[in-house]
Amino acid sequence: RSASTVKSSPLKFSHVYQCVGCNSFHLQNVGRINSKDKRNIPLPNFCPTVPQECSECGGKFVMGGPIWSDPIHDRDWATSILSNIRATSGLYEAYAKISAILTSVSEVLFCFVFSFGYAYVV
Ligand SMILES: [Zn+2]
Repeated sequence: RSASTVKSSPLKFSHVYQCVGCNSFHLQNVGRINSKDKRNIPLPNFCPTVPQECSECGGKFVMGGPIWSDPIHDRDWATSILSNIRATSGLYEAYAKISAILTSVSEVLFCFVFSFGYAYVV
């Protein structure tokens, strides 16, 4: 991880607001960038991004997070590891499991299932 990657990590976390009535949800980045400042320093974001009541059903929101809301996996990395593992599959007892995970990483990505403030990354 480079220093700039670490510094920009507030931009990759989000709070989650989820309606208790209809489960609609909104993501709000923890950090923001001041577009007038060329140094690109992350600042605390303005808040909140949702009204008190859900515009769909009038329900209240609960807040969760912060969660990582940037894509987690590097597809090229997963693909290269996968081909290395395939080449030496006899050495890995957990080959089938690792292979399945990396295959799904390289094919899919990032799907959330929300349940009242808890986020699962599938
Ligand atoms: Zn709602």
